[in-house]
Amino acid sequence: MSLVLYDTWTRGLRLFEPLVPGQVGLYCCGPTVYDYAHIGNLRTFIFEDVLRRVLQSNGYNVRHIVNITDVGHLTSDADEGEDKMEKGSRLSGLPAAVIAQRYTEAFQEDWRRLNLLEPTLWCRATEHIVEQIDFIRVLEAKGFTYRTADGIYFDTTRQDSYGYLARLDTQGLRAGARVSTGEKRSPTDFALWKFSPKNSTRQMEWDSPWGIGFPGWHIECSAMSAKYLGSWFDIHCGGEDHISVHHSNEIAQGEACHGTRPANFWMHGYFLTLQSTKMSKSAGDCLRLQSLTDRGLCPLAYRYLCLTAHYRSTLRFSEAALASASTALSRLRKAYASYPQGGNVNPQFEQRFQGEVNQDLNLPRALSVTWALIKSNVSTADKRATLASFDQVLGLDLAREQRDELPAPTNVAALIDQRRQARREKNWALADQLRDRLLENGWVITDDSIRD
Ligand code: AMP
Ligand code: ZN
Repeated sequence: MSLVLYDTWTRGLRLFEPLVPGQVGLYCCGPTVYDYAHIGNLRTFIFEDVLRRVLQSNGYNVRHIVNITDVGHLTSDADEGEDKMEKGSRLSGLPAAVIAQRYTEAFQEDWRRLNLLEPTLWCRATEHIVEQIDFIRVLEAKGFTYRTADGIYFDTTRQDSYGYLARLDTQGLRAGARVSTGEKRSPTDFALWKFSPKNSTRQMEWDSPWGIGFPGWHIECSAMSAKYLGSWFDIHCGGEDHISVHHSNEIAQGEACHGTRPANFWMHGYFLTLQSTKMSKSAGDCLRLQSLTDRGLCPLAYRYLCLTAHYRSTLRFSEAALASASTALSRLRKAYASYPQGGNVNPQFEQRFQGEVNQDLNLPRALSVTWALIKSNVSTADKRATLASFDQVLGLDLAREQRDELPAPTNVAALIDQRRQARREKNWALADQLRDRLLENGWVITDDSIRD
């Protein structure tokens, strides 16, 4: 069955064909680890995980690279302001390396709780300084750079195609640049290497052919994707905010260094918004996954919520929508747990499901197919086998037992007690009845868990 994906580069749906048969190189821009990830960031990583799972369900072997930005991302994408890591350090009084480690671990914990597949490789910007310097050297040798008082910059006027990904009106931008661009020759030019400030020492700085300093944000992804996937690979992903600056600049660097844009497909997840404004870490209005789980929600209820909206549509967060996602997930798990093992995957439903996900990851429709299966007259054992197959893509961990996630509410605890008593009295009929009532409430009781 053919797989069709939306490519931001062509602004249209394209048939996906891998560059090397059977293999897919996938690079996803990772988090900037100066703070906790918010659930908006996590929406983008859920979209990328679904993409990976869909590629795998089409039989591809995916090489999935995710970077960790632990240096060089400034508070403004236009190379101004402070390095987010140094700022995090200044505000907390902790060394930047400690901050980076703390938030990398917290991010990876969220990753696992959302049942995201482990990438083939995590790569940190600070561990690839040599590769970044080498990349800049090539750009310099090819005449794409110039020096200012504060760094080495990429000259975007050297490329007629600069900004094509975002369909940038570069002429208009250059003509209308009202704000001072400092020593930058053009407002779209960007830093490759920034010098450390003259009178202060940065925590994160390295020697380079141009002077002591640190790499710009965009060069890290160019250097690491080229190192681990080559200069021309299959798919590059990120959130929609990356289109106009970060990915446009990665493409400029790739074109200049290797004569090609780095990836064949460019895919972008749309934003999760909170009360109509976009959610941003720096604006401080963000919600963490932990804030949801503190209220007793399963983290995968948030994953379910994300699956209800197409990745190319803005998702407005609401408590009501999250609550119904949580209920739906419980019902799905309850149904799954109530079906016996030993069935087979139903080919018609499997085909319908695969048809939806292969149409540019139409997960909302794939969820409808999932519910149609549950309501269908397919045998319960086959329903279970088919759901398990769907779950390879949904990633909802349907086999997970609810009691792992939620503390038992009082009425559930009372039912468990009554069932324990019934078993003691060898009243098996009552015990079975009580087990069914627990199941209706989404609780799967194995006899081990109530053994006296
Ligand atoms: P950052 O940690 O800021 O580098 O962002 C990590 C990822 O989250 C990037 O792919 C961003 O494009 C994405 N992102 C940032 N804000 C949101 C949001 N509100 N909704 C969805 N994705 C987002
Ligand atoms: Zn990136």
